[in-house]
Amino acid sequence: MEETKKPAPRRRRPSEYICHCCRKKYPYCFNCPCGFQICEKCFRENLWGISNGPTWVCPDCGRIRMTF
Ligand SMILES: [Zn+2]
Ligand SMILES: [Zn+2]
Repeated sequence: MEETKKPAPRRRRPSEYICHCCRKKYPYCFNCPCGFQICEKCFRENLWGISNGPTWVCPDCGRIRMTF
């Protein structure tokens, strides 16, 4: 019996991220399970508002996230 090739399923995890602040694509962004993504540059610019040391707070859902 020959297995027919199934079309590749849609991947939930993107291979690239789009920063919600500057709308540019990056290979990696800080991200939240709610879908929020922010690039390192914007993250640093907003650090004073959302981060407190090793953690940052998602501005969308308020979840506390680790920096790395
Ligand atoms: Zn950005
Ligand atoms: Zn979130």
